[in-house]
Amino acid sequence: MTERVYNFSPGPAVLPLPVLEEAQRDLVALPDAGMSILEISHRSPWFKEIHEQAEANLRDLLKIPEQYKVLFLQGGANLQFSMIAMNLLRGSKQSADYILTGSWGKKAIKEAEREGTVNIAWSGESDNFKRVPKQDQLQLNPDAAYAHFTSNETIQGVEFQTEPDTSGVPLICDASSDILSRPIPIDNYSLIYAGAQKNAGPSGVTLVILREDLLERISVDLHSMLDYRVHCDKNSTFNTPPVFPIYTISLVTKWLMEDIGGLEKMEAVNRAKAQLLYDVIDESEGFYIGHADPDSRSLMNVTWVLKDDSLLPTFIEEAKQQNLYELKGHRSVGGFRASIYNAMPMEGVQCLRDFMVEFQKRCG
Ligand code: PMP
Repeated sequence: MTERVYNFSPGPAVLPLPVLEEAQRDLVALPDAGMSILEISHRSPWFKEIHEQAEANLRDLLKIPEQYKVLFLQGGANLQFSMIAMNLLRGSKQSADYILTGSWGKKAIKEAEREGTVNIAWSGESDNFKRVPKQDQLQLNPDAAYAHFTSNETIQGVEFQTEPDTSGVPLICDASSDILSRPIPIDNYSLIYAGAQKNAGPSGVTLVILREDLLERISVDLHSMLDYRVHCDKNSTFNTPPVFPIYTISLVTKWLMEDIGGLEKMEAVNRAKAQLLYDVIDESEGFYIGHADPDSRSLMNVTWVLKDDSLLPTFIEEAKQQNLYELKGHRSVGGFRASIYNAMPMEGVQCLRDFMVEFQKRCG
């Protein structure tokens, strides 16, 4: 077998090894079907079962109540930036609140502004997106059509510890980079969406969990592919769904349930992994400088810079010699980003921690 490295990519990202091994087997022939998972029809009983299993697992893990629909769509989280505003803001007299904590939220706002009036309820931009707001800093409009936030900003590595309270205004969340990393109270949300390629599966499918009453608010005539009502009516099979990504979600969620033991357990592991890296940063006496303020730190994307930026290429090169890959930060933040999603094993994070400590001893 090809040797695997520790892959700290922000997404598409590391997947659990047992998932890859099962997919490898099913790539030639699914048991019972005698056909590859890549070859089966989306109308076949085999896919129907996989689809139902993926949904059932998500409902079980996230405790999704019955009045919520679970959709598997395409077009990435980027298309959701548009669909949300098209379905819920277009033609409306109301405005929409957006809480801006990083690069992805900014893109969501850009698309929403094409459809209606956006009120920025809080922005961390002047601070280079180092933190999330406190509840009393939000300037929310009680008459807004909805309020949108990004639970974890993947580029900056800032994450909400709990969702904002919007006092009854429908809450919408881009949870692309922290869905399934911890339990969340779904009841507090009207719509949650997430590109799968970080914590849920490969790229090519976007999860949308939405409360059914939201559909009644859609009054505009939309192209079918852009209309949530159509996807709900057709149970995500209005067009050919992404069979392989949905299949992989069914395996990742099974792994979360059976191997990990659910989202509380997953959260505990994620906290322990993140703590290892934040401790190195905090104990480095300024050799490593964390990007996010401590109370806004992400459990999924740990971002930091070096006091002496000229050491960056050496760090990246030497890290590779320890099997530590994809650590370069996004150009807008600089420095480093270690994406330590659910499937990154503790050993990978320990290996990175040891390397960071040793690198500082040599170069600090
Ligand atoms: N939102 C967040 C928080 C993301 O991390 C990403 C992708 N990195 C996106 C949106 C965009 O997702 P996609 O590429 O699937 O459209």
